[in-house]
Amino acid sequence: MNNTEDLKRKCQTMGITLSEKQLAQFMDYYELLTEWNSFMNLTAITEFEEVVLKHFVDSLAVCRTELFADRIKKQTEEKDSLVSLIDVGTGAGFPGIPLKIVFPELRITLLDSLKKRIHFLEEVIERLELKNITAVHGRAEDFAKQPDYREQYDFCVSRAVANLASLSELCIPFVKENGYFISYKSEKTKEELAQAKKAISVLGGKTEKQIEYILPESDIKRTLLFIKKEKQTPNQYPRRAGTPVKEPLK
Ligand code: SAM
Repeated sequence: MNNTEDLKRKCQTMGITLSEKQLAQFMDYYELLTEWNSFMNLTAITEFEEVVLKHFVDSLAVCRTELFADRIKKQTEEKDSLVSLIDVGTGAGFPGIPLKIVFPELRITLLDSLKKRIHFLEEVIERLELKNITAVHGRAEDFAKQPDYREQYDFCVSRAVANLASLSELCIPFVKENGYFISYKSEKTKEELAQAKKAISVLGGKTEKQIEYILPESDIKRTLLFIKKEKQTPNQYPRRAGTPVKEPLK
């Protein structure tokens, strides 16, 4: 029997109280993830408690930050528009799907360059009855050139996709002015940040905050980087598909 108490408690530690509906959605997500993982490569982690900690809870780390949670609350109360978020290189839906479960009021785009992962995500969206969320297939370099996507999001999030200099070029172009690119990193961010400094600035961003934390009931260290979009990204970025990773901006 998978222990929903474990998920409930770890979320509670992070200040998130899950409703029965949200708990059921996480359980359905886990079931689909392990079912589809038996015939396609979605995740190396399948044991329930590990998925809870390293995928679900890790994805939700940003919810603890005022910068994220307060902005969603404020903008939703003012009812001027839904807060929008794009998850670049979402894979099996991390962090985008857990964020959608906890903040159903978000308008979310899940982007990945592997089509079969998009099929999986479409199934998750249908089974969990999630609204205002779409999974799209393609490369960030191409989507970020399209007017419907470029500078259209309050937040861009990304976990485990590329080093920060390359990732900044894939992600910052999606963010509206005054919005944030939030990069989920493991421990060693100091070096990456130093290497990405120029790229972040050229792309119109500024590193505003770095939050280090430990996943609940573990010794696993993580870092969230908040990069604020201060000015428009110059039109030539991102460069063509493949170039940001092959030749990171220096
Ligand atoms: N974010 C997920 C997570 O944390 O579990 C998935 C991480 S997985 C290691 C990286 C994902 O990024 C893959 O699914 C890959 O297809 C996608 N990806 C890599 N480069 C991309 C690009 N340029 N545009 C869109 N997706 C990309």
